[in-house]
Amino acid sequence: MARNIGAACRRCRREGLKLYLKGDRCYSDKCSYERRAFGPGQHGQARFKKLSNYAIQLREKQKVKSMYGMLENQFRLNFHKADQQKGVTGENLLILLERRLDNTVFRLGFAASRSQARQLVRHKHILINGKKVDIPSFLISAGDIVSLKEKSRASATINENLEAVVRRGVPSWLELDKDNYKATVKALPNREEMTMPIQEQLIVELYSK
Ligand code: SF4
Repeated sequence: MARNIGAACRRCRREGLKLYLKGDRCYSDKCSYERRAFGPGQHGQARFKKLSNYAIQLREKQKVKSMYGMLENQFRLNFHKADQQKGVTGENLLILLERRLDNTVFRLGFAASRSQARQLVRHKHILINGKKVDIPSFLISAGDIVSLKEKSRASATINENLEAVVRRGVPSWLELDKDNYKATVKALPNREEMTMPIQEQLIVELYSK
């Protein structure tokens, strides 16, 4: 599967925001954004330039794409799907992104970042309702049980990740049973709980041009 392998920290600096793409490092004083909170490259420290409406919308879309580790085609497909659903397109889009299995595994703390979560899914460590699912874009539904394969429960990395999840918290739409390495999807995610600073309306405006 194609993925964005550009330097993660550069993307945070480009968007002027911590996107938490590198797991534990993001919470430490090694975070590049904490150390150099200005744009990357030769002109990164140049004076603030007024952005056009188009540029503002584009940056918002790029930011959300980077957050969820997606490429343009995948992201656009999700937008079309969100647009066809009832309700507010922007909110539908964010809910679809949150429902992805890689995001869910990250939110539960089995992985320190979404890219690590994608790897866990791809390598068949994750079960949905007792069955192996190795598709990171799989959409979880209310009532699903997400668990870790028996053999994977001894992994030191996963156990360390689970200990560290306290730091960022598990969203209320998921109920984590840490001792049994499983979780129940209590409900679908809702917009109010997504605390990252996202203006989804800008993405809708961009794609509606
Ligand atoms: Fe972004 Fe994490 Fe890199 Fe900090 S360490 S710049 S939050 S990816």
